[in-house]
Amino acid sequence: MTVLVLLGAPGAGKGTQAALLAEELGIPNIATGDLFRAAVRDGSAIGLEARRFMERGQLVPDDITIRMLLGRFDQPDAKAGAILDGFPRNGAQAKALDDALAERGEAVDLAPLIEVDSEEIFRRMSGRWLCRDAGHVYNETSNPPAVEGVCDIDGSPLYQREDDKPETVRARLHLQLASLQEVIDHYASTGILRRVKGQQPIDDVFRDLLVVVQDGAASSDA
Ligand code: AMP
Repeated sequence: MTVLVLLGAPGAGKGTQAALLAEELGIPNIATGDLFRAAVRDGSAIGLEARRFMERGQLVPDDITIRMLLGRFDQPDAKAGAILDGFPRNGAQAKALDDALAERGEAVDLAPLIEVDSEEIFRRMSGRWLCRDAGHVYNETSNPPAVEGVCDIDGSPLYQREDDKPETVRARLHLQLASLQEVIDHYASTGILRRVKGQQPIDDVFRDLLVVVQDGAASSDA
């Protein structure tokens, strides 16, 4: 079983790269956020427990999250391994994952980190604008509208959600980066952290990730 933990700040392109890697390696991409949203939709016991935390924008407690994740590992498509996206979110979860996998005689194989400078992350996260009529999404840097403040598609005015305003984004990002750092430190200390430059075109990030993953596989075979 190959377990990859894909790390990166929000907006670093983790979701995109996880999907590409999953396809290339033929193992599923497991995003805990997606699992929780599906559980809430299905009205399962875990979904009911998780919902009140998600609604407040809080992390779901570790015991629930780990239970859900291990349940997903038991699905037949994850027999050969999985790519984790959105888990672990902090040092405690990283340790809990190691312990849970160790009980099954497994371990995280590699933790590739998509590195993007924190000011760039801040720009990507805070430049989001939505249109009033239909919620079409724009980004000041990566996808600006043709005319500032106006939706290209329906001409309605653009606005920023409270959550996407610069001061809110900065406060949230500060907390997320501190938790990410704990996870980075954890995998650096176990020797499986690998850094990949995230400020390049999607294809180049993917190429570098593949090199790191293939090297990782080669060194663990040695
Ligand atoms: P995401 O799609 O990754 O932003 O996750 C959406 C929500 O699911 C988060 O706000 C949390 O409430 C929950 N969640 C996702 N991943 C985790 C995790 N690793 N630990 C705890 N809660 C999580």
